[in-house]
Amino acid sequence: MSTAVVDLLPLPPRDGLTEEQARGAACIWDATPLTTTTAIDLGEQQAADGTHWFPRACRPCTLPRAMQALQLHSGACEQCVDDYTQCPTGLALVRLVREARR
Ligand SMILES: [Zn+2]
Ligand SMILES: [Zn+2]
Repeated sequence: MSTAVVDLLPLPPRDGLTEEQARGAACIWDATPLTTTTAIDLGEQQAADGTHWFPRACRPCTLPRAMQALQLHSGACEQCVDDYTQCPTGLALVRLVREARR
């Protein structure tokens, strides 16, 4: 499910990231050093060359992106208009926004 959410967020390409960012030690968007308590786990990714990487981000970077993704998704998803709790993507995005707001 986390992979589905991350598909909706504009992740930077793996190629442009530092090693710290690729292994989740720093925010993928602004390179803020992360700890397990401040990081939001965006789920394992597979780069074009097949290598796996582990994007994580800080809350201030995640919140506006998660909110935008939620807006875009819920505007285009009939299930979410009806009841977002029945849509795995909508639910995952709502959870991500909540997590980023903490
Ligand atoms: Zn950040
Ligand atoms: Zn939906």
